[in-house]
Amino acid sequence: MKLVSYRCKKSYGAFRIGIVDGDKVMDVNEAFRQYLLANGEKDHANTVDSLLPSAPNSYYALGEQAFKRSQIAYDFVKDHSIENVSFNRNEVVLSQPIPTTAKVICVGKNYSEHVKEMKSEIPTFPVLFAKFPNAMIGPEDPILKSVHTNELDYEAELAVVIGKTASHVHQQDALDYVVGYTIGNDSSARDLQKRTPQWLQGKSLDHSSPIGPWVVTTDELPDPSNLDIKSFVNGEPRQSSNTKHLIFDVPFLIEFISGLITLNPGDVILSGTPDGVGFAMDPPQFLNAGDSVRIEIEKIGQLENKVK
Ligand code: MG
Repeated sequence: MKLVSYRCKKSYGAFRIGIVDGDKVMDVNEAFRQYLLANGEKDHANTVDSLLPSAPNSYYALGEQAFKRSQIAYDFVKDHSIENVSFNRNEVVLSQPIPTTAKVICVGKNYSEHVKEMKSEIPTFPVLFAKFPNAMIGPEDPILKSVHTNELDYEAELAVVIGKTASHVHQQDALDYVVGYTIGNDSSARDLQKRTPQWLQGKSLDHSSPIGPWVVTTDELPDPSNLDIKSFVNGEPRQSSNTKHLIFDVPFLIEFISGLITLNPGDVILSGTPDGVGFAMDPPQFLNAGDSVRIEIEKIGQLENKVK
């Protein structure tokens, strides 16, 4: 499944959980309501929101039950060719496909070629930092260039979305705690990032960090260890690598982070960026208003945002 947060352009209502299927977006909550009605469960259908919330934050908070019911709803709609639960892709707007309450934990210096280009050293332990909810934007939102930076940069990253509460998880079980994968742009204001030892001020600027367009669930994408990852600025190739080059791979990161910090459904690990960032070009190339950053990850899709 490709899970999104969407709303209809016409309605301006709250964002709801949907599943993208070709050029359609299916409303998961309504699809499950119809499934319940078709199975004679009228009482449950009347209280469907408690079984499968439409609001992204409540949906992810329910975790595994929500994902299982979504699969049931999706299969029901496909098997019965039901059409009145879906919208055309061009009738809807997509928001970030993760809850607004998510912890976004980022990993720095996690591809050796990127460590080299930044003239840094391979870390002994994963380098962790965070993005707060103010930073996160969706696939159709512009990246806001703060007036406080002249060195705004992009970072293509595989984003791991947690599906069930993870605390002290072992590497060999780690992928069982993932609901799916999406694409992140760890937008970085290099001048702000580097003026103090802590990177936070350059990494969590308002409205700076796109994620999306959808969460590809692990039934479609079970293995994140060999995915091509690329970025482009105004169509020009910048980064090109593969997740097999991660220094600390996804299972290791889940074990390491969950040993320190409990991860909840909907929380995200941004796993690090490969070489080819603008800061390391000669001369350095930074983003300006009007530029467009496109990130592609194999088997997930692409995330493209304009800079404003
Ligand atoms: Mg990064």
